Amino acid sequence: MAHKGKAVLFRELNKPVVVEEILVDSPKRGEVTVKMAACGVCHSDLSAVNGTIPLPPPLVLGHEAAGEIVEVGEGVTEFAVGDHVVSNFIYMCGTCRFCAGGRPVLCVEQGKALVTPREGTTRTHDSAGKPLGIFSGCGVMAEYATVSMANVVKIDKAIPLDRAALVGCAVTTGVGAVFNTARVEPGSSVVVFGCGGVGLNTIQGAAIAGAQIIVAVDTVESKLVYAKTFGATHTLLLKPGEDPVKELKKMTGGGADYAFECVGNGELSGTAYKAIGRGGKAVIVGVARGSEMISVKQPSMVFEEKTLQGSMFGSCVPRVDFPRMLGLYMAGRLKLDELITRRYSIDEAPQAFADMQSGKNARGVIVF
Ligand code: NAD
Ligand code: ZN
Ligand code: ZN
Repeated sequence: MAHKGKAVLFRELNKPVVVEEILVDSPKRGEVTVKMAACGVCHSDLSAVNGTIPLPPPLVLGHEAAGEIVEVGEGVTEFAVGDHVVSNFIYMCGTCRFCAGGRPVLCVEQGKALVTPREGTTRTHDSAGKPLGIFSGCGVMAEYATVSMANVVKIDKAIPLDRAALVGCAVTTGVGAVFNTARVEPGSSVVVFGCGGVGLNTIQGAAIAGAQIIVAVDTVESKLVYAKTFGATHTLLLKPGEDPVKELKKMTGGGADYAFECVGNGELSGTAYKAIGRGGKAVIVGVARGSEMISVKQPSMVFEEKTLQGSMFGSCVPRVDFPRMLGLYMAGRLKLDELITRRYSIDEAPQAFADMQSGKNARGVIVF
């Protein structure tokens, strides 16, 4: 049985996303079909459309969604029709040395399951029957998606699906960068560059971890207001071409213990490194174009034991971290309600992307 429904597509480089009716095949062995309830709009979706993250069109966008399972493929015993799930944009083979070693975000099979299921065929077609790729093993900005069971995580049915969706990327990426990648200790000083969906979650992760100083940096003033809601103790409005390092060093008593780049800019990543002090760690979360470089003073790394580290999907283990994030939400310790500035219908998707580009929302969410 094929499922017919609307989806948000990347058809042409640098052109607005389009909403089309698509056909989604029934699940094959090890796969499930999910009827989506909501999907967050992440900057990485936009980065595919503008070529920053090179993925070939035509592509069904979306990698931050939640919904209900409507069909299970052969051999699937872990999931049943009616289960609620959150999408996971990291394909995990489960057996490579990184999966087996507890670091599935580094799974060596990921590249094979980036825009199609791992074996290379496709479950998704346009109305003319032409195959469509799926964004990072997901393609969940759609009413239906058939994905590998490695790309979904079962969640508690008591959790509202529009809030749960955010755990599929922004929350786990931001909070995970703090908890898992950096392992921020209580009393630390933290600087966060970029207060979008990812940066705001980095800020709230730092607050939960007990950081003492949390400086939020953004180029859009309204983002700094959101940052305060999520736990920033200080804010800095960055003007184009301005170097904030001196000011940040002053705010953090000589340099931060941790700085997080949540924008996706090579030069700003270097600024994050400069903003940390002795023994500090700069964590790069934003994804820049492949041509961008990070430049740092070599001796500073030695004499000051500074660290420059990347963070992929908050160094998470989805089946451990998704329930952990949602548990914190249910306990009133993690803010999800406040993250959703605006809900859009699927037909309003082009507007949702434009609003993200102009920095309007903490997070925009498409509800189906
Ligand atoms: P977003 O568009 O919601 O937020 C980006 C924020 O950065 C905006 O508030 C914007 O005003 C601000 N900004 C832009 N230029 C700036 C500058 N020079 N200095 C300070 N702030 C600036 O984006 P998002 O969804 O939060 O994603 C942020 C980045 O993280 C993107 O590059 C995205 O691709 C990446 N990302 C990485 C991972 C990962 O696994 N590492 C996961 C998700 C997203
Ligand atoms: Zn994302
Ligand atoms: Zn693997």
